[in-house]
Amino acid sequence: MDHFLYRDGILHAEDVPLSEIARTVGTPAYVYSAATLLRHFRLFDEALAWGPHLVCYAVKAASNVAILKLLGDAGAGMDVVSEGEYRRARAAGIPPDRIVFSGVGKTAAEMRHVLREGVRQINLESEPEMRLLSRVASELGVEVPVTVRVNPDVDARTHEKIATGKSDNKFGIPISRARAVYAEIATLPGLRVIGIDVHIGSQLTDLEPFRLAYRKVADLTEVLRADGHAIERLDLGGGLGIPYARSNLAPPVPLEYGRVIREEVGHLGCEIEIEPGRLIAGNAGILLTETIFVKHGEGRDFLIVDAAMNDLIRPAMYGAHHDIVPVIEPAPGADQQAFDIVGPICETGDTFAKARHMPPVAPGDLIAFRSAGAYGAVMASEYNSRPLVPEVLVQGDQYAVIRPRPTFDEMISRDMVPHWLE
Ligand SMILES: *Cc1c(COP(=O)(O)O)cnc(C)c1O
Repeated sequence: MDHFLYRDGILHAEDVPLSEIARTVGTPAYVYSAATLLRHFRLFDEALAWGPHLVCYAVKAASNVAILKLLGDAGAGMDVVSEGEYRRARAAGIPPDRIVFSGVGKTAAEMRHVLREGVRQINLESEPEMRLLSRVASELGVEVPVTVRVNPDVDARTHEKIATGKSDNKFGIPISRARAVYAEIATLPGLRVIGIDVHIGSQLTDLEPFRLAYRKVADLTEVLRADGHAIERLDLGGGLGIPYARSNLAPPVPLEYGRVIREEVGHLGCEIEIEPGRLIAGNAGILLTETIFVKHGEGRDFLIVDAAMNDLIRPAMYGAHHDIVPVIEPAPGADQQAFDIVGPICETGDTFAKARHMPPVAPGDLIAFRSAGAYGAVMASEYNSRPLVPEVLVQGDQYAVIRPRPTFDEMISRDMVPHWLE
């Protein structure tokens, strides 16, 4: 469920008509619903209420400081994968003991920064990384709680670019090597084992891969405890999928996911961490755009809109589907016509949808791409010198720009001509 509904014939974000945001902020623009973000966070929080837990929002899904502050004020922790994300979480006022540092290629400089400011735990992904972290922590004279991300070799049955839990992916260490790796960590200064980490992929629409992975983690917990390691925390990653097309079968909800976690690892008495990103932010955001032209081609008609692949890359990168709806509610039973919905960028890849059935659309009409809150604005670029797409947060009848659209001058003045060309 989200809070983007038609009211009086106009699509609203909570109590604000999207037409008003288009008028004051311009298009394209991302619009987020605070009520939806909070609702999704609380669903996870309640699904784990059977035991000690922390829901660590995966910052990479939508990393605006206003969104992090909203979720952090509600009690969320943060899962970060770079120093930049760590700094965003800190800028949003998240205390260090609620920030988990994940990621497959942490540099010594990033480790140093995070260790100086404080961190809840660092999830290690390789043996060279654990040796480097041991050196950095020793130099700073600190001891850092760590988990090791194990790769359970399960098929997440999701898009190949976002599957991370098979043995041929770059993530984590093979679960078969876990005993040896934990044994080495126990000898390394500056590191203190606190638990185990696993994350098998994104946009999972089936709970079975989670169940298989968590069962392996439960078995490993017993083995590592028998070896004398203090396994007190299980970080079970993110990855629960969302419905991108309203017509499709609904993926599992957080409550069922929480039940699977309880069934597989609940008996171990560990504190549970999860790192959901997409399910919290995905359906909490839309991309608002305006139709520039309706172009009649040979055998097909195009809607050329003012958003493009630089603003929302998911269709071009993953072949992703987004529901696309007019902001003015079509009359019931209105004629539908098939359009290719495309942006203005000089690449055929700049296509959002092919032969999509839409009610009549005219130039100047506003259109919304649904389910664009996660992996939308964060992946935006300025390709074709299109200023970075702005972001707006709605809460009830209030709304605010949370990242302004740069002016052309701001965009261009970042470039510098070297002195020998002047
Ligand atoms: C991407 C990622 C997540 C979030 O995945 P979602 O599918 O957005 O829930 C969580 N943890 C790690 C380590 C990730 O890389």
